Amino acid sequence: MYEWIAKLNAVPFIKFFLMTTFSYSDPKSTEVSENPILLPSILELSREKLALAVIDMGEKTFRSTQLWRSLYRERVLSFDDISTLSKSFRQRLNETYSISPLSKSMFLTSSDSSTSKALYRLNDGELIESVLMRYETDGHRRNRKTACISTQAGCALGCTFCATGQQGFRRNLTVGEIVAQVIELDRIAYKEDQVQVVEGKRTKGELQGVTNVVFMGMGEPLANYDNVMASIKVLNDAQGLNIGARHITLSTVGLVPQILKLAEEALQINLAISLHAPDNVTRSQTMPVNRRYPVEELIRACHKYADLTNRRIFFEYVLLKEQNDSIDQARKLGRLLNGLHCHVNLIPVNPTKQGPFERTDLQSAKEFQGGLKQYGIPSTIRMEKGIDINAGCGQLRERAVDILGT
Ligand code: SAH
Ligand code: SF4
Repeated sequence: MYEWIAKLNAVPFIKFFLMTTFSYSDPKSTEVSENPILLPSILELSREKLALAVIDMGEKTFRSTQLWRSLYRERVLSFDDISTLSKSFRQRLNETYSISPLSKSMFLTSSDSSTSKALYRLNDGELIESVLMRYETDGHRRNRKTACISTQAGCALGCTFCATGQQGFRRNLTVGEIVAQVIELDRIAYKEDQVQVVEGKRTKGELQGVTNVVFMGMGEPLANYDNVMASIKVLNDAQGLNIGARHITLSTVGLVPQILKLAEEALQINLAISLHAPDNVTRSQTMPVNRRYPVEELIRACHKYADLTNRRIFFEYVLLKEQNDSIDQARKLGRLLNGLHCHVNLIPVNPTKQGPFERTDLQSAKEFQGGLKQYGIPSTIRMEKGIDINAGCGQLRERAVDILGT
């Protein structure tokens, strides 16, 4: 265990993670394991590539459909568990592939059981974080479980309020590494549902596992465009996880060319833009990307996106005390977004160890909201629930997941 921590301490992000997660107030559970994986993950194969690989192994095409369903629908942990396949085929699969490219290094559940954070080790030793959020039925919405997933190990964009941004870029995640985060969390979520059905707390119709996915973890999804698009295709697949596009949200720092490209994809996913300031001077102070894609250009791209997709855009606005939270800035934001079909989520910052920012208090957040209202811009204040367990995480936060109510 101590050797494990010492190894992790060599990685700056993890050092940060350890500092923060071990200061959780009374986490309900902690799990630590080591599980080196050497073979390539079968989750790296698209449906088409899997079909070809199965034929290459001398099997009939329909076997690939069985295999796909077992991997993504039944969430098998081992090829040996796929009883529909012959023993010899399972043996060949065992010799050629592993299933998950992730090994769980740590798993923490908050004391109120609403949130679990997982730390996964990738085959090359990189470490990423994913979060499972559980929401009870709240009158007008069904109960749901949201997976918040990472798309890169680290991030190159260097936003000054962001824990990942402060740690730099390591590498893009592969399709398998992205999708596997959902599968891992789905397996946990589904098991919990099963227990609740037995306990009579949930109907059989509510055996759903993960219902929503947000790309709001470590990294910039649109900087890993192709792998993120391929992973959405896998998440969507009706024979597999079957997560509808409208239940998927992608958050971007605002990479204009990729936003325009995404608009052409004709996907029904939700798009969230991390705006965090109403003008170039303020935005460039905390988000270096603004020098490349300034506010006006970004908003122009958002108009195009909304026109082409007919979808409302979500704006994330992290409230940084005395940096971007004045009433004048609220009005400026209102003017900027006027005429755009959008919703603004106001999020008092989750202070990070290295970041210089403090949270805006609720009263000031309400005043900011009032400023936006003058321009008819709808907004919601997302006060973090359970700050005790999420404090300092800086990336995969319950609040961020809550932003879009997904
Ligand atoms: N790179 C993407 C997605 C990952 S970050 C993006 O920037 O949009 C997901 C969201 O968390 C973004 O809106 C980001 O600005 C926000 N965020 C980062 N650090 C935060 C912090 N310390 N407190 C609150 N929100 C934060
Ligand atoms: Fe990267 Fe998003 Fe963090 Fe900015 S907020 S550094 S884009 S992960």
